[in-house]
Amino acid sequence: MAADFADLDAFVDRTADERLADYLDLLRLPSIGAQKEHDGDVRAAAQFVAERFEQMGFEHVELSETGGHPMVYADWLHAEGAPTVLVYAHYDVQPVDPLELWTRPPFDPVVEGGRVWARGAADDKSHVHAHLWAARAWLETRGKLPVNLKIVMEGEEESGSDHFDSWIVANRDRLKADFALISDTGFYEGNKPAITVGLRGLVYTQIDVVGSKVDLHSGSYGGNVQNPANALATIIARLKNDDGSVAVPHFYDEVRPLTPRDRQEFARMPLDEASFTKEHGLHSVWGDPGFSILERRGARPTLDVNGIWGGYQGEGSKTIIPAHAHAKVSCRLVADMDPHKTFERLRDFVMSIAPQGVDVSVTKINDGMWSLTPIDHPATKAAAACLVDVFGEQPYYLREGGSIPAGATFTRELGLPVVLLGFTQPDDQAHAPNESMRLDNLEGGIRTIVRYWQKLADTPL
Ligand SMILES: [Zn+2]
Repeated sequence: MAADFADLDAFVDRTADERLADYLDLLRLPSIGAQKEHDGDVRAAAQFVAERFEQMGFEHVELSETGGHPMVYADWLHAEGAPTVLVYAHYDVQPVDPLELWTRPPFDPVVEGGRVWARGAADDKSHVHAHLWAARAWLETRGKLPVNLKIVMEGEEESGSDHFDSWIVANRDRLKADFALISDTGFYEGNKPAITVGLRGLVYTQIDVVGSKVDLHSGSYGGNVQNPANALATIIARLKNDDGSVAVPHFYDEVRPLTPRDRQEFARMPLDEASFTKEHGLHSVWGDPGFSILERRGARPTLDVNGIWGGYQGEGSKTIIPAHAHAKVSCRLVADMDPHKTFERLRDFVMSIAPQGVDVSVTKINDGMWSLTPIDHPATKAAAACLVDVFGEQPYYLREGGSIPAGATFTRELGLPVVLLGFTQPDDQAHAPNESMRLDNLEGGIRTIVRYWQKLADTPL
């Protein structure tokens, strides 16, 4: 990299002790968003973050009320003509139970084996800390940042983000930016640097089949009425083809095909099918033979029954025709699918194949947007160059099978491309007992973000 980072790197070097102490202080706050008795601790963590942004010279710093846990907002907007980045991380953490499985106390962090062990050490206080210190490196060393930053740090990520969307919508005007940087992900297997470029969307539905007011005697009525459980099974059986593809008409119409470059990047990531099968206790890997495991996970849509019930499920026999039967059915979506259109196609198809003699309805429970930022987007390329500079390796480009609600919201409500850049290692035990964060990843993360701000200033977005 052409730019000189010697003074910034020297700052990171000489503040090593202070940085670690500050990180451990943040980890000592048990900011468990899901548990009422920790409401004060969650707010204390928000305060902790806000104070630090304020002290280093950020403006409009506030704990913005959401109706739940507060959002920390702060901005620094004096890099005229340079890009504006909306930075997201979260300061809340997962609950700690079962506590007896922790070998060290979750909120009394221990430094051991090159790692810090504590709840939230990786998810997501590592990134809160990294952003605080990367910004501080610039402001204390050079008195300015090379880009404009708008910081949004959430306190409800681990408890459902109930107030996130409405807060984003209400603050739409002041959140204008060139792209959103989400720091809540990590490296690939083997601790290989990675940028997450894709997340899948979701449509979640329930199918209800009703035949009578109450369960019927199967001797008296059997043969003369439609059975809702049989009818539901008929419907479900027709939703997918034998090869695993989805049979709903037009389901794949908008699916963006993989480019040769996309497929090359997927192929570059090592994934051993045998150990994948063993590690997760799978019978076998099964899916569309035209795609690899990682392609199916990141770039192909799905339809799955998540639950199915109806009729008698107790011990022995009970000779009834169940009054009703139900299934939860959800689809994972990829670019460029429309969640609403997908729901309508699924609903219309179910209605069109509904057997006679029962009432069938399909209800949408929720949905979420996918997000996909091209590998050659300038913000992605800039992040990749900084990872190479700090970690010495070309990053992998991950497309995750799941969703990060913030990513979907930034795409849908603010129309922003999203780059997911994070530094946690795959064995961090996030959400589980004995969570940890590698200190070399954390420090490398700070240096990467420090470079990223400069690289973005040099890159037309
Ligand atoms: Zn997280």
